[in-house]
Amino acid sequence: MIRKTYELINLKKIENNVKTIINSSKEYKYHIAVVKANCYALGIKCIKSILLGGANYLAVSSLEEALKIRKITNVRILVLEPIDIKYIDLATKNNITLTISSKEYLNKIKDKKFTCHIKINTGMNRLGINNKKELNEVYNIINKSNINLEGIYTHIYKSSDKILTEKQFKKFETITKDIDLSKIEIIHIPNSETLTNYKKKDYVNGCRMGIIMYGFSDTLHLESVFSLNSRIIEIKNIKKGETVGYDGNFKAKKDELIGIVPIGYADGIIRKNTGRYVYINNKKYKIVGNVCMDMLFVLIDDTININDEVLIIKDNNHINEIAKHLDTINYEVMCNISSRVERKYIER
Ligand SMILES: *Cc1c(COP(=O)(O)O)cnc(C)c1O
Repeated sequence: MIRKTYELINLKKIENNVKTIINSSKEYKYHIAVVKANCYALGIKCIKSILLGGANYLAVSSLEEALKIRKITNVRILVLEPIDIKYIDLATKNNITLTISSKEYLNKIKDKKFTCHIKINTGMNRLGINNKKELNEVYNIINKSNINLEGIYTHIYKSSDKILTEKQFKKFETITKDIDLSKIEIIHIPNSETLTNYKKKDYVNGCRMGIIMYGFSDTLHLESVFSLNSRIIEIKNIKKGETVGYDGNFKAKKDELIGIVPIGYADGIIRKNTGRYVYINNKKYKIVGNVCMDMLFVLIDDTININDEVLIIKDNNHINEIAKHLDTINYEVMCNISSRVERKYIER
């Protein structure tokens, strides 16, 4: 490693988190780990730890992601989006499970051989079968084919709202009323937040764990699993009235010390990060001026030296604060860390 900027990921903590989650939800038989977007940008190296933690199924967003992961494990993998119909055989050959999200899509591929889960739309209005009639038709087509129907699922869109969420469960029950769910191996509904905040329904036997594996939970005691680290590479003394960076966006009201840190918007630290805090020697310091493509400016004091470590992201609490500052959600803060940032892993 040459550049002093990297994401530090603790694999043992991921494994322990997954163990804690599964221990607290033993009533579910299938704990599907959603490892899309390279494990929320932490890297697919985390998958080994997630499986050691006890996850017994994986889910991703595309066939590309599934094929990449197939090289490292034989565990079943579900693709959450319909894939290009040209690649159905490739999916089957690699034991990848497909999502059937509409009758129209199924009709194009019904003569092929594959394993699938049916996706039901219960209010998210993104993917999925919309009503009982369409589901019954889909079910009949599958029954007359060589298709292996292994699962059925839906997605909760606002688990913080009990009324809306219960309505979604009800809608799932209504749409699947004519189907004998006990004949289907895996019925999975809860995502991370739904898993810890709602009682398991009798007909559900699977859940999909996403961001919770990385320690984001209000209910379970879990650990943060990563930080984003860099160092001070240069210190500038600026005089009252001088500015820093492009457009001179920050103007010193008095003589100031500015630390230069080699991370910028090409690493995913977008310009809106100006004004929020980083941690140096366990103290908070503010990002000032316009964030550059490869570097940013931190307002420091004379306790800070060149080569001191800068935590651009310290832990999950910090991520939640950053998300608030950026007017977004913790998921986006994680996924924004670009591929230029080296990922370093701690195994214990
Ligand atoms: C991303 C995703 C999940 C995981 O969501 P979390 O909130 O991270 O638990 C589960 N199901 C589907 C369909 C998803 O797209």
